Amino acid sequence: MGTPVVSLPATFEGLPRVELATLPTPLMPLDRLSEELGGPRIWLKRDDLTGFALGGNKVRKLEYLLAEAQALGQKAVLTFGAVQSNHARQTAAACARLGLDCHLLLTRRVPWAHPGYERGGNRLLDELYGAAVTLVDLEDAWPAYDRLVTELGGVGAFCEIPAGGSSVLGTAGYVRAAAELVADFAAAGIAPARLYHASASAGTQAGLSYGLAALAAPVTVCGVNVYHPNSLRLRERLRTLQRGQIERFGPLPALPDFEIVGGYLGPGYGLPTPAERAAIALCARLEGVLFDPVYSGKALHALLDHVALGVFEGESDVVLLHSGGTAAWAVYDNDWD
Ligand SMILES: *Cc1c(COP(=O)(O)O)cnc(C)c1O
Repeated sequence: MGTPVVSLPATFEGLPRVELATLPTPLMPLDRLSEELGGPRIWLKRDDLTGFALGGNKVRKLEYLLAEAQALGQKAVLTFGAVQSNHARQTAAACARLGLDCHLLLTRRVPWAHPGYERGGNRLLDELYGAAVTLVDLEDAWPAYDRLVTELGGVGAFCEIPAGGSSVLGTAGYVRAAAELVADFAAAGIAPARLYHASASAGTQAGLSYGLAALAAPVTVCGVNVYHPNSLRLRERLRTLQRGQIERFGPLPALPDFEIVGGYLGPGYGLPTPAERAAIALCARLEGVLFDPVYSGKALHALLDHVALGVFEGESDVVLLHSGGTAAWAVYDNDWD
């Protein structure tokens, strides 16, 4: 019995892609942290180091989303996010690189009091990368959207990317990342049963779980809810994307294997919790690796808590994906101890 030959579906391999990221990103063990916790060996997949526009997980999605825009001859891109959206920053930079006009519709939805919240961090970078930014209150988002669509020549005249880059096509970036991870695991000689990461618009989780299932890699993709007040919303989003993936990329030999991890959101999206801060500080001190306060820090906290709860009993390795977000630190340096 040889190793079964597995590959990604041909419908997926045929998708156009532009290169933006520096790949593969490193997979590294966090040995001092693992030892401190006394659980499985924790491996960190460094997608904070995707190597473009300060890194992060949206770069992988944009490689497919913007290749399609180019193939369709679209010259302008419109996308959406919160004021400190990492997706908006990475889209602005990718558009600059490819010579596309970038329009960002950002909404005030996080009650975080910092004097630089609407000017610094990702917001400043959006400007530096040359994006045209419309910043509105949540209730003004639809009228602002209608105005922008008209200004850009109507639906279809430009490339519209949903928040987080999480269209079915956007998930392709993480389908491809799943193949990268399978190669990483083989090189490291490990067979982890679970991978943790921060999940919000569900594109990362949909991509990883589809890709790992397509490759017959038995890894449960554990998405830590960092956005939805009710975790069931995240599950619904994931299911919707999965139906779209099967339609567009083809059926799978097995069902995508995923879990939604709730209980780590705290008071809400963009609001760090005391236990999350402690997890971030611990990893910073033991490993010299920095997690962000909005996304990856909550995933780190969930993983550390699950180690303490004995969730990984009998498992020798677990993987955590660092999805980026550290540019937001510029506006989270207050109220920190
Ligand atoms: C967008 C984002 C996520 C969540 O990814 P989704 O694909 O939207 O679920 C996680 N971490 C960071 C830093 C992000 O910017």
